Amino acid sequence: MSHPSTLHPETDVLTRGFDPSLSVGSARPAVFRSSTYVFSSPEAAERAFDIMGGRAQRGEGENVDLVYSRFNHPNAQILEDQILALEPGATGALVFNSGMAAIMTALLAVLQPGDSLIYTVPIYGGTQTLVQGFLQPFGIKGVAVPGGNAHALDDAIRSTPNLKVIIVETPANPTIVMTDVRGVCAAAKRHPEKPIVMVDNTFLGPAFQNAIALGADLAMYSATKYLGGFSDIIGGVVLTKDAALLNKIRSKRSLFGNILQPDECWILNTRLPTVHLRMNRQSKNAQRVAERLAGHPRIAKVYYPTLFDDAEQIRIYREQCHHPGGLVSFAMRGGKAAAFDFLRHIQLARNAVSLGGVETLACHPRSTTHSAWSAKDLDEAGIGEGLVRISFGIEDWEDLLADFVRALDLVA
Ligand SMILES: *Cc1c(COP(=O)(O)O)cnc(C)c1O
Repeated sequence: MSHPSTLHPETDVLTRGFDPSLSVGSARPAVFRSSTYVFSSPEAAERAFDIMGGRAQRGEGENVDLVYSRFNHPNAQILEDQILALEPGATGALVFNSGMAAIMTALLAVLQPGDSLIYTVPIYGGTQTLVQGFLQPFGIKGVAVPGGNAHALDDAIRSTPNLKVIIVETPANPTIVMTDVRGVCAAAKRHPEKPIVMVDNTFLGPAFQNAIALGADLAMYSATKYLGGFSDIIGGVVLTKDAALLNKIRSKRSLFGNILQPDECWILNTRLPTVHLRMNRQSKNAQRVAERLAGHPRIAKVYYPTLFDDAEQIRIYREQCHHPGGLVSFAMRGGKAAAFDFLRHIQLARNAVSLGGVETLACHPRSTTHSAWSAKDLDEAGIGEGLVRISFGIEDWEDLLADFVRALDLVA
């Protein structure tokens, strides 16, 4: 059946990627837990291995036999086809058993000793450790540049030799600083090495920020967060419009064995049709509460896109994002003691790291997610002693606001 190509993501995700006739007519996909697949003929087996080994190209519309579930399996295929609907411009996707597995595999597919990569900071702690603690000893140089500083990024891109990859994480966690993806892509195109631009799109994508449409070569996700949406699954995804890049990453995934397992693929599949619904509600909750907390006497500053005061940050937000999203940070007066008091007194939100779930979570980044940083780096990045980060869920926003105000008023 041909598929209209002009559908909106919310429709497309419900109507593509799954053929009930391949699952005995079941309206939902079956879970295929086989580790190995029976070939339709010895010739078909030979053909499947030739294609897998890169000795032959799959023909247009050609059905290739499945081989072995470390390489590929039906639930991964269904998920990878369906998730394309959510990232406009992407033509291929790969699913992994965590966000870190997705990031690691993408990097190891394209980097060699002697290469350099640039990454924006603050960046997810795991990504930073991967670059500094793992890739660096293998002879791959990592250059950290403050996200949101366009001049510093341009300078670093121009002056870094053997530059093969630029990783952008925007907005940055937990200070919500935004980096101009289009600007980074333009600078990358001027570099003789044509470095690959990878965007960690976990915080605002896929509903509110579309990295491929902004020009990135690769969009990366921790599916553990908004895509999964219920704090009950660990997974990762990469999406691209570059078929050669996709094949390189796929062959490394086959080698490393970090494909997402069939049951997890099936679960993640069930979450895709509601990601826009959930993220819209989470963003509305966050915006309503953030804007009301901004004047509270115990709060020195609220970090949220609709409360930005820097003209360049406002411009990037308006041009790059559809909505402000479900993450809010605020700096409390009274430092760590006040922040801890607040976390002790909240009753609806839970004190936990992670984000993107339907339940509201709150944490103190300086003593948890960012505790490995030096005091100097924390201070420079604006991650102060009084900073609290909230990931909004889908509860009623007035209940959340009342709970937060009550907790703020109880702070000693
Ligand atoms: C959580 C997260 C990751 C890592 O994902 P896992 O699924 O925990 O491996 C990477 N990047 C960002 C921005 C994240 O929030």
